[in-house]
Amino acid sequence: MATATASEHVTIPPFRPSRRILLGPGPSEVDPRVLAAMAMPLLGHLDPEFVALMDETKTLLRRVFRTENHLTMAISGTGSAGMEAVVVNLIEPGDRMLVCVNGVFGGRMVDVAQRAGAEVTAIERAYGEVFDPSEIENAIKKCAPKVVGIVHAETSTGAWQPVEEIAKIAHQHGAMIAIDTVTSLAGVPVEIDAWGIDAVYSGTQKCLSCPPGLSPVSFSAQAAEVIANRKTKVQSWYLDMQMIQRYWGSDRIYHHTAPISMNYAFREALAAVLEEGLEARFARHMLNHHALKAGVAALGLPYLTVEGHQLPQLNCVGIPEGIDDLTVRKRLLADWGIEIGGGLGPLKGKAWRIGLMGHGSRRDHVEIVLSALETCLADLGHPLKKGEAVANANVVYAKAE
Ligand SMILES: *Cc1c(COP(=O)(O)O)cnc(C)c1O
Repeated sequence: MATATASEHVTIPPFRPSRRILLGPGPSEVDPRVLAAMAMPLLGHLDPEFVALMDETKTLLRRVFRTENHLTMAISGTGSAGMEAVVVNLIEPGDRMLVCVNGVFGGRMVDVAQRAGAEVTAIERAYGEVFDPSEIENAIKKCAPKVVGIVHAETSTGAWQPVEEIAKIAHQHGAMIAIDTVTSLAGVPVEIDAWGIDAVYSGTQKCLSCPPGLSPVSFSAQAAEVIANRKTKVQSWYLDMQMIQRYWGSDRIYHHTAPISMNYAFREALAAVLEEGLEARFARHMLNHHALKAGVAALGLPYLTVEGHQLPQLNCVGIPEGIDDLTVRKRLLADWGIEIGGGLGPLKGKAWRIGLMGHGSRRDHVEIVLSALETCLADLGHPLKKGEAVANANVVYAKAE
């Protein structure tokens, strides 16, 4: 008599994702070298080989952050975990924090700081703008914060915020400065030591071109001391840097199991960045940005970020009157496999965000997204001259040769 149940004969085919060209705000296209590293066999999280990999990762990460900071490592979690780690470790309940908000991620930092018990002062700028050092100085004088939090590359608007001057001002007034480099790291210069940054976090899936899953962080010696001398326990057990440090440092005390494969990937991504060279990588991002910008001008799409502060890796452009956001983005995905980002917050339905991040910042991507957008816009009756967008981009490439 047959005793087998139906469930023993089930086949569930493996998941096979379609090929996409990821030109949105992240995740960005991953270097095949990084994907290959993720398929390597697992090691135990205290295996000497894994421990050596953690040490090597810290060294490589210091070079990418351009810092000598001892307290430099990858938090297990995405960029938002890094944001939370920085805030909850520096802030004790009742501490004052000044947060600069000119987009979605500054707004998120306010929420995180409030949940950590900070007395938050938020200053605002319209989406697409950046802050002047003088207005931040005025706010610091009024609220005398322990920490100033600011986003270096605001992914929701494409705004590139200079932070060096602001760091100086914060220090003159006895405050620490924490910066969000989730989208900036490995796409535009990030100089943690030269700028005097006290705390920084980033993410793996933007210009580092690694899957999402880790958040690199670094704390200055002074910030590390502030953390060591806290009167209260860090609100988050998982993100307590003192405990994490005992695992990532020489003690190797178990705290949580490191995501092994993600750490392989991260090490490989850092190696790829350093092999290319940071300056060469920044120049590549800039060249592809200029080519894209020349192309979208021909399509009649205006940049929504103020001139002079446009991130090369995140191009935020206005959607023309009468053109439906989703109609275009759905067609880009269906017909070309291209993903671009829509607008966030007040820019919902009004903006497209074209990411040229890390491994994805390439000439072939610039040309395919320009010609696909041109086809979509022309089919919807938007006036343009066929072929002009890619031709404009090619002029930029020709000049660069
Ligand atoms: C993507 C992003 C984050 C959040 O990172 P997640 O990986 O989505 O958690 C934070 N800040 C900025 C500027 C970002 O672009």
